Amino acid sequence: MTQAAEIALKGVAKRFGTTEVLPPLDLTFTAGAFTVILGPSGCGKSTLLNLIAGLEAVSGGEIEIGGRKVQDLPPRARGCAMVFQSYALYPHMTAGDNIGYPLKVAGVPRRERMARIAEAARVVGLGDYLARRPSELSGGQRQRVAIARAIVRAPQVMLFDEPLSNLDALLRHETRAELADLHRRIGATTVFVTHDQAEALTLADQIVVMNAGRVEQIGTPADIYHRPATRFVASFIGHPP
Ligand code: ADP
Ligand code: MG
Repeated sequence: MTQAAEIALKGVAKRFGTTEVLPPLDLTFTAGAFTVILGPSGCGKSTLLNLIAGLEAVSGGEIEIGGRKVQDLPPRARGCAMVFQSYALYPHMTAGDNIGYPLKVAGVPRRERMARIAEAARVVGLGDYLARRPSELSGGQRQRVAIARAIVRAPQVMLFDEPLSNLDALLRHETRAELADLHRRIGATTVFVTHDQAEALTLADQIVVMNAGRVEQIGTPADIYHRPATRFVASFIGHPP
């Protein structure tokens, strides 16, 4: 079990040039919870994750992870691991080397690295594929490598940016169930971005519905589904009026 950390966004804003993509935003992600950010394409979901991970700089406001201000820290120092829609694996490295790369960068000795790679691969059910390169793996196996690479450092925070979008329907269902199981076992604070309503309703402890950079509603799946707070939420969730 990882020690989970609360994530607090305080007045966090993002502009690209003169375009305000995220107006100042206050948002808390409960320690150890699985929070889904749900919203249509272009509403700012990826930008929000990138700000937490440190892949983009905030234009204003503060981000705290486990009570520590991180907005000026580099990604590596934030205790977050991120999984992308496109997997973002290194094509020239084997699955095992991809998984172990964050440990190598962190200076973890080879012996310990090997043990932790094996453990992470076991957790995602990848044991037999460690010697293969990404081009020799299916989409589902590649995404497992990406997930194993994310958990190998026992992060306090796991960030997922539409990780299931490139999988076919059956595999998407399977991997969704595995992610829920993984979350129960690992217990890291999880923020999962998607535009898929069914994914949000099945995975989330808490859903944050976003529209055009703003938060429309925050609630449990039952709240969002049965008691949509705005017209937008009702229509996006597909709940009959
Ligand atoms: P989502 O992930 O919800 O689809 P994004 O966070 O990717 O949305 O994008 C939100 C908005 O910010 C979009 O209008 C997008 O065009 C804009 N945007 C994202 N990244 C950049 C960038 N690097 N430069 C300029 N505009 C950007
Ligand atoms: Mg996106």
